[in-house]
Amino acid sequence: MNRSFVRFATAALGLVLSASAVAAAPKFQMPFPCKQVWHGNTREDHSPKLAVDLSRAKGEGDKVVAAAKGRVSKVRNLGNRSYGKYVVIDHGGGWSTLYAHLNAYSVKVGDRLEQGQALGTVGNTGTSFGAHLHHEQLLNGALQKIKFDGRGIHYYDGRDRYTDYKSANRCP
Ligand SMILES: [Zn+2]
Repeated sequence: MNRSFVRFATAALGLVLSASAVAAAPKFQMPFPCKQVWHGNTREDHSPKLAVDLSRAKGEGDKVVAAAKGRVSKVRNLGNRSYGKYVVIDHGGGWSTLYAHLNAYSVKVGDRLEQGQALGTVGNTGTSFGAHLHHEQLLNGALQKIKFDGRGIHYYDGRDRYTDYKSANRCP
């Protein structure tokens, strides 16, 4: 092999490796423990539009868990505005997930979480009317259509309509 071919092959391999790193989206799961069923609500006037609101009867105080393995990149309290208490997890490759209106959080910036590990509890903080979890999946800061267990959720239910989803997060 001559030297220029080796250089070319090395560069080509580098391109293939970086392309596969970009393509590898994490397989996000519902941010609740295995087998729990939550009502998902999406609507055109939701801010931001591709987010999902997850709720269930007496859901306030229930455990919220990481949708995928990652590192906590934000833990904030906006008081009675916007997201209220919220957490962001960085999953690498530009992917992140956001969990808002929390009652309380149990993590700090820099914590490494496994998929299914608790990060806080469902609440009604910020601009929220009734306890629910506001959830976002982002790529390089841009909201993506939400997938749970590799399947896209249903858009758009409208303000008073729900689709039920069952969590497969960390199921044995
Ligand atoms: Zn919301």
